[in-house]
Amino acid sequence: MNLRSAVAATVNRRDGGHTRQLAWAIAMASWIAAPATAAADPGSGDPPGTPLALRPRTAMMWEPIVSATALAQVNTHKIYLNRCAGGCTVAQGATNSTTDPAHSSLGHGVLSPFSHGDATWNTVVACMQEVYAPFNVEITETDPGAEPHFEIMIGGMPQQIGLGANLGGVSPFSCMPYIPNSLVFVFDVWGDDAEEICATAAQEIAHSFALDHAIEPSDPMTYFKYKGRRRYMNAQIQCGSDCDDNHRSPLGVACTGADFQSHPCACGGAQTQNDVQVISTLFGDGVATPPAVTIVTPHIGDTVTPGFNVTAEIDDDVAVASADLRIDGDLIQHIAGGPYVFTGPATLADGTHTLEVTGYDNAGTPGRARVQVVVGAGCKSGDDCGDDASTCLAGRCVAGPGTPGGLGAACITATDCKSWQCANDDGAKYCVEACKPGQCPSNFGCRDDGQGGGVCWPGFNEGFSGCAASGTGSDGNPVGSIALGLGFAAAVWRRRRRRS
Ligand SMILES: [Zn+2]
Repeated sequence: MNLRSAVAATVNRRDGGHTRQLAWAIAMASWIAAPATAAADPGSGDPPGTPLALRPRTAMMWEPIVSATALAQVNTHKIYLNRCAGGCTVAQGATNSTTDPAHSSLGHGVLSPFSHGDATWNTVVACMQEVYAPFNVEITETDPGAEPHFEIMIGGMPQQIGLGANLGGVSPFSCMPYIPNSLVFVFDVWGDDAEEICATAAQEIAHSFALDHAIEPSDPMTYFKYKGRRRYMNAQIQCGSDCDDNHRSPLGVACTGADFQSHPCACGGAQTQNDVQVISTLFGDGVATPPAVTIVTPHIGDTVTPGFNVTAEIDDDVAVASADLRIDGDLIQHIAGGPYVFTGPATLADGTHTLEVTGYDNAGTPGRARVQVVVGAGCKSGDDCGDDASTCLAGRCVAGPGTPGGLGAACITATDCKSWQCANDDGAKYCVEACKPGQCPSNFGCRDDGQGGGVCWPGFNEGFSGCAASGTGSDGNPVGSIALGLGFAAAVWRRRRRRS
């Protein structure tokens, strides 16, 4: 690596102005020489309005990596959160979390115990688990010992391992895809602010994956202030947020932008990085939980007039980011942030239309729901539906029996059905459509779906459906409630994202 990159192994300060000289002293001590820009620190404090001093700062320091060791597929999917309970001993040497004691190229000593209680710690752990949920990474509190792992020591003060005071955290840094068995530090300078501890942990460990600082405040790679949980953003975001008063990046590159906080990313020279993409390329993706989408209005089969509203409820285990409305496959509206109330098109031809709402969580995981509505009088019979494959059900044209994914077709998951409803009765799984009694085509009966509605079920005899409390009715009809397989998004997501 060239000298400039090595020096850039820069150190960042906790509080902007006052500790900057010290920070550069560390950088220079570590790297023999520093560019002129780095040494010329005016120490004048941050200009008003710049966000430099808003967070304790963290550091990344160059770690020479033997390329062969890191070019192979990542050697572990574990990140060990080491709560320095009885203290953490660190020996000097090439960074290695698997030795006892662990080795760090950044310093040595003993870090005092993490000084905050279980509540703070548990929030940090839960936060890191959530932040890493989109990836095939296990966040663990159990020391993997000599087994390969990434490690985040949390506790103590930077001086205890020979670093300058007021550092919020520090990581070795390399432009290799990852630093094998990297050991990074989050110092005990954040009080009991679990979100800041978590964000710093997420930032430090990602420096070990060649990620630089970035200007997006909601992403953990930033120095900028943010209220709330920071999560890696699945977008190309501008590198920066860490420029000094001379408008220089830690690498000594001139910073640009309105607030002089933008610079090229440390590895590769592009202006932007996609944190999610980088981490996902390294580890693969986790099994994400898609948002649960419910179309509240209109209801299936409703007659609507053009310009109607579509209201969706979208829930997610993490956060819902945005949603799309499609009608008959065409994108009508995208809404970022709720409430998810869409306005349908002002003109829509008479007939049956399929509304589809896709909700996305902040990792981009989609969840979907569909309902069919009718504009105009609706069909009276299959003849009104315009094609042989459709049948008329309660005024709407649906994919009929005998057509792929049509009513009564065998299905495994919801996506196998045009209606996106694959109902399961003890292993017998068929594509169904919502109905009320008397609406289903011949050879089907409208059967209670156990959720307050009904679905057309092949061979079901409506005349006997209410006669038995449980089990099989005297006519052989099943009478237990059936389960609707609405796992559309999950099924698709897993299929698309699983890697071998
Ligand atoms: Zn950093």
